[in-house]
Amino acid sequence: MRIVCPSCQATYEVPEKLLGDAPRKVRCARCGDAWVPTPAPSPPAAPPQPSAAVASPPPPDPPEPEPEPELPPPPPVLAEPPPSVVPRPELKLASPPAPGPGKGLVLLAALAWTASLALLVGGGWAAVAWRTEIMALWAPSRRVFALLGLA
Ligand SMILES: [Zn+2]
Repeated sequence: MRIVCPSCQATYEVPEKLLGDAPRKVRCARCGDAWVPTPAPSPPAAPPQPSAAVASPPPPDPPEPEPEPELPPPPPVLAEPPPSVVPRPELKLASPPAPGPGKGLVLLAALAWTASLALLVGGGWAAVAWRTEIMALWAPSRRVFALLGLA
């Protein structure tokens, strides 16, 4: 007999002997809906036959597309030579100068400058003051003093 799924209107050809005399629930293979197909004649109730199999036709399982076997990832192509191992100079974050030691350094530098300036001036002064002695002791210095117009 032909039964129709009330849910999705799928039609199934079912051997009547499968359904037997008693109304049996069948399950639609397409939509999963279960219903009791009503055969035309309604015979008197009979004890259910335990041997009756499921009335629904074997659901023709559509062959599921086999998942493509995952290919192992191709080996990485080295488009360019590996980066040479040139040690990069590490970027050091310039920390803001600490106020204390910074000022001290500036002071020290100023002091050093002053000292060297004083030494230079003092040395020059001494050289001028004692140029006679120096020239007497070290002859070549005469030319220097001559150049300076001090000889
Ligand atoms: Zn259905």
